[in-house]
Amino acid sequence: MRWTQTFIPTLKESPSDAEIVSHKLLLRAGLIRKLTGGLYTFLPLGLRSLKKIEQIVREEMNRAGGIEVLMPALQPPDIWQQSGRYQTAAEVLYHVRDRAQKEWVLGPTHEEVITQLAAFEINSYRQLPKNFYQIGVKFRDEIRPRFGLMRAKEFIMKDAYSFDATDEAAQVSYQKMYDAYTRIFARCGLKALPVEADTGVIGGKFSHEFMVPAETGENEVVFCEGCGYAANVEKATSGIPKTAAREVGAAIEKFATPGVVTIEALSQAPYSVAANRQIKTLVYLADSQPVLILVRGDDQLNQTKLAGVLGTTVFRPADVSEPADMVAFTQLGAMPGSLGAVKGALRTGAENWPVYADERLRGANDMTTGANEDGFHFRNVSIERDVQVTKWADLRTVNAGEPCAKCGKPLKIRRAIEVGHVFKLGTKYSEKMNAYFLAEDGSRHPCVMGCYGIGVTRTLQAVIEQCNDQAGIIWPLAVAPFQVCITPLAVAPDGPVMTLAEKFYAELTAHGVEVILDDRDERPGVKFKDSELVGFPLRLGIGERSLAKGEVEIKPRGGALVPVKTDQAVPKLLELIRR
Ligand code: ATP
Ligand code: MG
Repeated sequence: MRWTQTFIPTLKESPSDAEIVSHKLLLRAGLIRKLTGGLYTFLPLGLRSLKKIEQIVREEMNRAGGIEVLMPALQPPDIWQQSGRYQTAAEVLYHVRDRAQKEWVLGPTHEEVITQLAAFEINSYRQLPKNFYQIGVKFRDEIRPRFGLMRAKEFIMKDAYSFDATDEAAQVSYQKMYDAYTRIFARCGLKALPVEADTGVIGGKFSHEFMVPAETGENEVVFCEGCGYAANVEKATSGIPKTAAREVGAAIEKFATPGVVTIEALSQAPYSVAANRQIKTLVYLADSQPVLILVRGDDQLNQTKLAGVLGTTVFRPADVSEPADMVAFTQLGAMPGSLGAVKGALRTGAENWPVYADERLRGANDMTTGANEDGFHFRNVSIERDVQVTKWADLRTVNAGEPCAKCGKPLKIRRAIEVGHVFKLGTKYSEKMNAYFLAEDGSRHPCVMGCYGIGVTRTLQAVIEQCNDQAGIIWPLAVAPFQVCITPLAVAPDGPVMTLAEKFYAELTAHGVEVILDDRDERPGVKFKDSELVGFPLRLGIGERSLAKGEVEIKPRGGALVPVKTDQAVPKLLELIRR
């Protein structure tokens, strides 16, 4: 490809709305352009890298037994009603109306479509296992589209769905995808590590996210350098001790705490109740029903863990500024800051609300909590004696420095970008959407499913986020838009420099190398800057001065310049590419 015949609009400055380095470089290197927030056009170089990532994904999916299909992005809402996600995924669903005012949705993911296909087409155990995948466009009405391709309204995903006859077989399918993902990200030149992820209401241990460590990532990963444990903070646990039990016996006692409505205030004189001897009581509305959540004063409630315990994603904290929610506080008899779940202090109405308590409070006594009367607290609370706990669960968020549950070493936390997710679904969708098969003995069972996503466009950007320097992108060879950039410093068509450049171009191309020839009539500085900014892995510079010595210059991106004899240029480049 010749530079002048394609379209590479590089920029000196990054547009002001690009916040993170990869977003800036995508724009500055002329890889993408913004249509509007969350919607981007891929320009030729961006498209080339994107296609390379897609091809790596495709090859590894095929190698792992995946069967490629392509499903419609425009979908009838009935299948979403059938799976129940018309409500639970409502936040991200785009709705469209046709000329007859009939409603359609734009697929944010394709479990519904593929499960319907399986329901029609898979009838017998003989047809299993199957793993269908596609590489296609997804639409999500993200609350906060940002960081360019990282969180877009429209993006490209590889999504795969496995169907198995048994649980054990489904775990084999899961492992194949896990291994394929490991290879895919390695081939893309990305350091991505698998971490244990939330399994939501389905539960189990078969969910991993593939995370690219980056300061700008939207996720937090808890990890242990001792034993290799790694989990999303949404799911992570630690070996932190439970609340120490003290001498029991003292009866519960109410005391006045006028104006004290925070853990912090209660920990100050004259009360001086350490945060770790306080019980924090939170009121949530889960599917519109009030529930009480108890965590220790120095702990934070983990929303993802809470969703798993509540068994619904439709929940939120009761809000004092919402008149409808005030009913809950009125029933409790106090406002936030004075709330508690002590049996005798729950009035009629609230006394039967479910109480979910964090495991760390199990066995705790000598605790302080709100008395359900504004300006009053209870002390000497023994949680198992004084509170009717409906369910104990892990509800707290792990903090850095806590001991690893497996090996005891202090845990660390770092930010990361989620590029892929593998998830065992079980029979949630197959049951709802009637994807059953007949087993060998004639009995009927729902298919056991798994789903596996890779954000292809996000992966592209994650590569840039991980591989760059002051001058621009440093593409890993496998996903670079071109492997070699030939940079002639004089472009007169029949001059010695351009003649040699053309010869190299033809030879390298004949060897299957992807080459771009910078045939622009620009100053050397401009050409060098652009080739560094775009980040081609290898640059072959040809100038009159070095040519007089019979030499040209090879410059690996991010490495030192190497002069080579003209007849050694092609072999040297081939060696560097194959290495
Ligand atoms: P996130 O937590 O980042 O919103 P998710 O858990 O909703 O992602 P999945 O439904 O698991 O995402 O989708 C599979 C993959 O698609 C993700 O791992 C991510 O790489 C990518 N992805 C998800 N949402 C977006 C988006 N809005 N823009 C670009 N890529 C996305
Ligand atoms: Mg995910």
